[in-house]
Amino acid sequence: MTEETEGKCPFGFGDDAEPGADSPSTHSALAPAMSRDMLPTLVKTSIEQGADGQQTGRCLCGAVSYKFLKPVEKVFANHDENSRRWTGGVSLTIMVRASSMEFHGWGRLVHYASSARDRQCFCRLCGTSMFVRHVAPAAMDGMLSLSAGTLDDFEGMKLTAETYIDRKPDFYSFKGDRRVMTEAEVEEMYVERPKAG
Ligand SMILES: [Zn+2]
Repeated sequence: MTEETEGKCPFGFGDDAEPGADSPSTHSALAPAMSRDMLPTLVKTSIEQGADGQQTGRCLCGAVSYKFLKPVEKVFANHDENSRRWTGGVSLTIMVRASSMEFHGWGRLVHYASSARDRQCFCRLCGTSMFVRHVAPAAMDGMLSLSAGTLDDFEGMKLTAETYIDRKPDFYSFKGDRRVMTEAEVEEMYVERPKAG
């Protein structure tokens, strides 16, 4: 367990956060070490389905809602143990940079530190598994693996890759061909490398 206590939002939002209190300015002020692109834009009003012609989504109870600022279409199927235990099976996720999203209800999320590099974020009211926030160094830093099932509309979405394929239980499999990645290949993405130049 890291210094980020289980169940506590590392940004300081949690039990005492009032709805609407999670403005971007207080958010970043509480997390001065974090780069701007690790944060989504936080908004005070609920995001309606299809708002501004963008792809949107929400949790089961609607306390948490979001909007993508850029179109997304790629869905990953993840067969690792954390995904299994968190979702009850394979997780279907969209990899997106936090800064390319808008969120309402961030303060209603529990940020559970499942490892030093991952925060499993779920609605504290209805329990919906919303996303995994990657806080590790390297290419994954600042990325969210957002649960594809929380989208309002699935038009144009494509299953494009399967991760941790060597961890997949035998009792299920997906039809068709797509990119597959082993655990070792996924781990490579978390390795910090010196910057060129
Ligand atoms: Zn909810």
